[in-house]
Amino acid sequence: MKVYDVRVLPLHADHVEIEWCIEDIAPGEAVITVSRSESPEGPWTELDSVPLGDNNYYRDFSIDPTQYLRRLYYKVKCSVTSETTTVSHESDPTTFMIQPIKAALHMVKRLEALLRTVGEPAHFFIRRTWGPRCPVCGRRGGATSTCDVCYGTGVAGGYYTPIFGFIAKSNLNSTRMVYAGVEIPIDSRRMWTTNYPLLKAKDLIVDSMGIRWEIAPGINVTDMKGFPFRQIFTGNRIPSDDATYKLSVPSLYDAVQKRENRGWKQTRDSSKIIPDFSREED
Ligand SMILES: [Zn+2]
Repeated sequence: MKVYDVRVLPLHADHVEIEWCIEDIAPGEAVITVSRSESPEGPWTELDSVPLGDNNYYRDFSIDPTQYLRRLYYKVKCSVTSETTTVSHESDPTTFMIQPIKAALHMVKRLEALLRTVGEPAHFFIRRTWGPRCPVCGRRGGATSTCDVCYGTGVAGGYYTPIFGFIAKSNLNSTRMVYAGVEIPIDSRRMWTTNYPLLKAKDLIVDSMGIRWEIAPGINVTDMKGFPFRQIFTGNRIPSDDATYKLSVPSLYDAVQKRENRGWKQTRDSSKIIPDFSREED
């Protein structure tokens, strides 16, 4: 078992996100332990131990904003306990993938406020790229979009726990694509969101109407000295008979109902959205 490709993303002013990949996960109860230091040599502070579950990231809200614009190091350990043994592996110390810039963090905040006015709430489903293969269709790489175990990704579960956020969409653009000699219509829209979550091609977006959109290759990232603050991309509408419509999506009902009032506010753990009646602070 190996914890690798740890990414430390300081994309917000109030927290740092730590992501990881794990190779050859041993069977059993997997627990992730995240440690932090201001030096790659330590001493290390153990922040938390959480079940691996359906996540590939941890958010560190305990940062001190004055440290934040300097540098922090993180280590990620995965421990798997079975009936007889415990196996574990810890990653090398990893620091920020990009150095945060105050002006860019400020820009993110402003774009978030803008999205609450011009955009709509949505869920981002980050596609799994590692993990146990799909027992139904993934072994031969012949994943199909009818499989409701991997949803065509070839990896069991298909996607991580959905992440709540906001998107803005342009008008519908209908094109046609020839596939196996058959012309099929494709509805696509240009969309944008802030720097979070960082998206990749084939990730999924479920909009406020429950429509599934697959992100097309070629995400355009707007940045300030390499620090991303906005992502512009094309979403291709997924036909309604696709297996991804069987994915369970948290309800946006409360937020949508409050839309006329003012906007939405996200709670810290992003499990809930609540109406926001406060004035935008700057
Ligand atoms: Zn499958």
